[in-house]
Amino acid sequence: MMTAPVLLWLRRDLRLSDHPALTAALESGRPVIPVYVLDGEDPGEAARPTMRSLGGAARWWLHGSLAALAAALAARGSRLILRRGPVVRALADLAAETGADTVVWTRHAGADESPLAEALGRAGLTARRFRGTLLFEPEEVRTKQGQPFRVFTPFWKHLQTLDPPPRPLPAPERLPAPETWPASDALDDWSLRPTRPDWAGGLREVWTPGEAAAHARLSAFLEEDAAGYADGRDRLAAEATSRLSPHLRFGEISPRALWHAVRDRPHDRGAAAFLREVGWREFCHHLLHQAPDMADRPLQAAFARFPWRDDPEGLAAWRAGRTGYPVVDAGMRQLWTTGWMHNRARMIVGSFLVKDLLVDWRAGERWFWDTLVDACPSNNPAGWQWVGGCGADAAPYFRVFNPVLQGERFDPAGDYVRAWVPELARLPDRWLHRPWEAESAVLRAAGVRLGETYPHPLVDHKAARDRALAALAEIKGAA
Ligand code: FAD
Repeated sequence: MMTAPVLLWLRRDLRLSDHPALTAALESGRPVIPVYVLDGEDPGEAARPTMRSLGGAARWWLHGSLAALAAALAARGSRLILRRGPVVRALADLAAETGADTVVWTRHAGADESPLAEALGRAGLTARRFRGTLLFEPEEVRTKQGQPFRVFTPFWKHLQTLDPPPRPLPAPERLPAPETWPASDALDDWSLRPTRPDWAGGLREVWTPGEAAAHARLSAFLEEDAAGYADGRDRLAAEATSRLSPHLRFGEISPRALWHAVRDRPHDRGAAAFLREVGWREFCHHLLHQAPDMADRPLQAAFARFPWRDDPEGLAAWRAGRTGYPVVDAGMRQLWTTGWMHNRARMIVGSFLVKDLLVDWRAGERWFWDTLVDACPSNNPAGWQWVGGCGADAAPYFRVFNPVLQGERFDPAGDYVRAWVPELARLPDRWLHRPWEAESAVLRAAGVRLGETYPHPLVDHKAARDRALAALAEIKGAA
């Protein structure tokens, strides 16, 4: 009699190493059928009550990641089966076609997956869920009072007191194949990559999706950059951070692999600081577990009453990198071109949108969701709520970033602005972050005509700051 295969349902865990669900499927001794379901909406979010379409940049990444995974599976005698959703129907159909009676997958924070497991049960499949997205599962991390943490530093300190996460599992050399393979969609037919127009040239130049590239990036970072990370991570022009975020977002590398790669090295301050940032990722995921609607609802309830402005022109200028504040524009153009933005720049542009323009943080979150290759259901809303002052452990709303001083501090030689705002490249350092204060002769010599070659500032920062503080006072009932 034919042995019933196991369906390995892949979502945001597009790797073969350190994959507990895959290991369990192999341990069953049965053939394994790896499957990815495109759910029309965000495939990674199939279990969320309000599903979210993947953004354009993330779709581009997904194509590359699935292609890499399919090649890695083929090298191990297996295949990646591609199907369209809805998920329960796609998996039930596949089970009916192949005789599979079990489906295994990796748990994600953010959604209660029990209804999904029950629906699969009704379709005749045994559903088994495994860890693999996080260092620690949200239920395992509690304060002394038994509550989830709402503040990062005690959360991170607490994680250090727990037993370390298990060492990463090796990738299998082969996966047992079923007697016959079920049909699969062709990846190209999913049109995940843009064609008309093809705006992904900048992404192709910078990124290589896939598990092998993720591990290569980690090794290069640990060898070359980790030592300087603690001091360099805030410098906008220095390529001092790991750029592992899209690889982590799509699960091409596990956080446990990062944890142990760092801990296996002799202690160095830079690598420890890097691991702390991975701790932030963990924190954001645990927050999403508590508040699955974090992209839509402020964690601090008072902010539901915040008097956001409707400013379509301001929002459009911000998106296009034409606010007249060079460091803000540099960040927004880096994002548009490469699908990634430096963390410091994310904080600066975020503060500018929600405080200087008084535009709802959700509009920024949505734009990032569409344009970031690492657009993450946890880190993105948590980052925006932090910036907006309405999240757990957020920067207080009254702390308003000054885009000129931020630029001068974190891009002192102006390399970042010159790279992304070339029309200002010939301005002397002294004026680069504040071109409107330069004498007309200086502007002329640098070929800058404000209002023509580069915009006037969209708002006066000082007046905008006062306006933001007045808006805050309104919701605090102090105005
Ligand atoms: P590194 O400095 O090398 O850090 C290593 C890893 O730690 C990152 O890859 C990431 O997984 C995690 N990490 C680092 N900083 C943070 C942080 N502040 N919060 C959560 N995790 C962190 N990160 C995303 O992965 N996806 C997002 O959609 C996202 N949106 C953001 C939006 C805003 C408004 C802000 C302020 C931050 C956002 N971040 C997001 C966090 C952070 O900016 C990126 O993770 C980081 O810039 C990625 O670059 P890196 O991989 O070189 O980071």
